[in-house]
Amino acid sequence: MVDYEPVIGFEIHAELATASKVFCGCGTEPGAPPNTHTCPVCLGLPGALPVLNVAALEYALKVVLACHCDVPSPAIFERKNYYYPDLPKNYQISQKRAPFGVNGWFEFEVNGAMKRVRILDIHLEEDAGKLVHPQERGAAGVSLVDYNRAGVPLLEIVSGPDIHSVEEAEAYMIAMRRLLRYLGVSEARMELGQIRFEANISVRPVGSATLGTRVEIKNLNSYRTVIRGIEYEVARQTALHRNGERVAQETRLFDDARGITLAMRDKEEAHDYRYFPDPDLVPMRFTPEYLERLRAGLPELPAARRARFISAYGLPAYDAALLTDEKAIADFVDAAVALSAPPKSVSNWTMGELLRLLNERGLSPDALPITPAHLAALITLVESGAINQNQAKQVFAEMFETGKEPALIVKEQGFAQISDAGALEAIVNEVVAANPDPAARYAAGEDKPLGFLVGQVMKRSGGKANAPVVNAMLREKLRGG
Ligand SMILES: [Zn+2]
Repeated sequence: MVDYEPVIGFEIHAELATASKVFCGCGTEPGAPPNTHTCPVCLGLPGALPVLNVAALEYALKVVLACHCDVPSPAIFERKNYYYPDLPKNYQISQKRAPFGVNGWFEFEVNGAMKRVRILDIHLEEDAGKLVHPQERGAAGVSLVDYNRAGVPLLEIVSGPDIHSVEEAEAYMIAMRRLLRYLGVSEARMELGQIRFEANISVRPVGSATLGTRVEIKNLNSYRTVIRGIEYEVARQTALHRNGERVAQETRLFDDARGITLAMRDKEEAHDYRYFPDPDLVPMRFTPEYLERLRAGLPELPAARRARFISAYGLPAYDAALLTDEKAIADFVDAAVALSAPPKSVSNWTMGELLRLLNERGLSPDALPITPAHLAALITLVESGAINQNQAKQVFAEMFETGKEPALIVKEQGFAQISDAGALEAIVNEVVAANPDPAARYAAGEDKPLGFLVGQVMKRSGGKANAPVVNAMLREKLRGG
C-alpha cells in the first residue's frame, strides 16, 4: 500500500497592536459600545480619503524583515471588491500583486532540529465590521452591524506548502506567534481572536514532488483545533486517494463539536475580487537606509536569545527554551542577571516559582507582579545566609501576592535565619545530649547520623537555623573540627 504524506501551508492573520486604525485615526481598543470607533473614512462615506498609519506600516515591515523577505518597489495597496454588509466601502483595502514582503523564509525548532519554511507573502489589510444577530424576542430577522473593527490593521503571513506533519504545524504556529510577540507588533492573544490560522492541506504519495489538490480549512481558533482539523483532513484525503476517488478543491469548515471538516456551500474559488490598485493610496518605495534602520532596530529574536541564554548564562537547552518562550519572561531574566544575580539562581526561581504561580493564577507574563530587583534581592538574602531556602519560597509567594520588598517580608514574618553561633550552641548541645547514640556514631566516623542531628537542630529552632553553620558546629563539637 502506498504511504501518503501531508503537505501543509498556513495563512496566519494577526491583528496589529496599533493604537489607531490603519487608514484613519479611530481607536482600536476592544469592548467599546458599537459604532463609537468610527469616522467617515472607516464608514466608507463618499469623498473620505484614507491616510496610512505609519505605525501599522512599520509593524508590518518589521515582520517582513524578520522573515527575510524582499520588499517590492513599489509596494502597493489594492482594492479587493466584494459586497457584504460588514464592509462599508464594498471593497477591502488589501495587497495582492506587490505586498510589503515576498520570497522570505522562517526557521523554527521541531524536536531539536531546525525546520525552514518559505514565507511567500506578507501583506497588510483592513479588518471588516461585525454583524450581530440579536436573539431576544421581537428581534427575529434583524441583523445589526458594528463598524468598530472596520479598518483595524491585520497582517496576513502566507507560508509555502512546506510543512509535513502535525508536529511541524504546531511548532510553526507557536514560533510565529512568539515572533509577533517578540517584535511587539501584535499581542496575538488567541482567546481574543487576535491571531487566526487557516491551513491549506493536501496529501501525496511519499517521495512524490507534485502537489495534490488542496483543501483550505477555516474556523481554526486554537492550536488544538488546527491539529484536529489537519489530522481529520489528512485521513479523509488519504482514504479518498486509496479508494481511487478525487479530492475536490474547496474550502471546508472545522466543526469543533463533531471533530470533522465540512464543505462550505459558498466556494471561495468562485469569487472574482477584481483587485485593482487603490487610487487613493500612493505606491510606496522605501530607501535602503530606511529599511536598514528598521532592521537594525529589531529586538533580539527568540532563537538568538535562546542561544545566548545557553552560551552566556550556562543554562541547559531545555531551561533556555522555556525562559525565552515569552519575551517578558526573558526580559525579566536578563534584568535580574544584570543586577548581579547568578543566572542559575535566577533561572531556578523563574522556572520553579514564577512560572508556576503565573500558571496557577492564569496570569499573563506581560504584567509580572514582581520586579527583577525583588528577585535579585531575594537571592542575595538566601546567599548571605539571612534566610534559608524554605523561607525564601514563602517570601517569594508573598512578594508575588503583595509586591512588597523581600527584606520587609522577612522582617514582618520574623524569618531572619539564626546564623549566630552563640544562639545556636545551646540548641546544638541539647540535641547532642538528647541523642547520644547518633552523636556517638557520628563522632566515631560514621557520616550518616549527621543529617539526622542537623534535622533535629532545625526542628528545635523552628526551621530558622542556618544549616551550614549547624553542620560546622556539630563537626567541631563531636569530631574536633
Ligand atoms: Zn475611522
